[in-house]
Amino acid sequence: MADRGAVGRFAPSPTGRLHLGSLLAAVASRCQALHRGGRWLVRMEDLDPPREVPGAADDILRTLEGFGLHWDGEVVFQSQRHGAYREALDELSSGGQAYPCGCSRKDWLGQPHYPGTCRSGLALGMAARMQRHRLSGRRREWTDVYRGHLAYETAQLGDFPLLRADGHWAYQLAVVVDDRMQGVTEVIRGGDLLDSTPLQLDLWAALNEGRGVQPTPQYGHLPILQTLSGQKLSKQTLARPVDVAEAASLIDLVWGLLGQQRTDEWRSAIVGATPSEIMGLAVDLWDESVVPTEPVQLQGWGQDSPP
Ligand code: GLU
Repeated sequence: MADRGAVGRFAPSPTGRLHLGSLLAAVASRCQALHRGGRWLVRMEDLDPPREVPGAADDILRTLEGFGLHWDGEVVFQSQRHGAYREALDELSSGGQAYPCGCSRKDWLGQPHYPGTCRSGLALGMAARMQRHRLSGRRREWTDVYRGHLAYETAQLGDFPLLRADGHWAYQLAVVVDDRMQGVTEVIRGGDLLDSTPLQLDLWAALNEGRGVQPTPQYGHLPILQTLSGQKLSKQTLARPVDVAEAASLIDLVWGLLGQQRTDEWRSAIVGATPSEIMGLAVDLWDESVVPTEPVQLQGWGQDSPP
């Protein structure tokens, strides 16, 4: 069904080179948006300098191009958007949906999440170390594109940082402010981010109160790619970077992991076509109804980190 207003996005953090898990998210988010005639954006989530690797952002963008994953418009760099995050935080604070917190992690050790110690104000003599979002306590639910109806009680979750103790903006705030600013209508990403979605929906609702209602995107969470012992492919598990020289066979691998059919047309395309042509065909053939949700264990794509 053509939906020219669909806006998807891929939002890598430049903490290393693109690995198979990130390629999976890039391919799926692009197919999901373009199959319906929409647009696909790339946003660089470079807000965490201590975790970033010099040159990784450029490397990721060149790798995306090498895989035929061409984006629409300009790449947005979160490192250029401090003013927007500050404005959103100020607005949340004045609406009472953000508050200063003076606790450090050891103050709530052994608890499943932050217990809300500073919700009603800092204790005497305590200095603010960070800013947290005051969860609404409402139930947050959505129909996940791949996983169906999901619901979380935010009363059972912990108020989370918006501005971290090290002075950096927190992922949850930046991602919601930017998804809103960019008019994103569908967030397709790894299943490891599932638990972030109710937090982001709660923040989205809080911003809707101050800034006017903007409908929340649809969310879709992909299978998590893991090492053989079940650890997520990541920098910690030394996830192997994807190589542009193997673009056709890697797109084919990802296509299979996304549950998509390898039709005759597909099989012949991956032999002679360029990555851009293969991705064009992928967009045409994309079937969201077959995307699996269970984690997948793969050999040779990462190494188990020590316990
Ligand atoms: N930057 C996040 C990551 O690389 C993804 C954020 C998102 O898709 O919401 O894990």
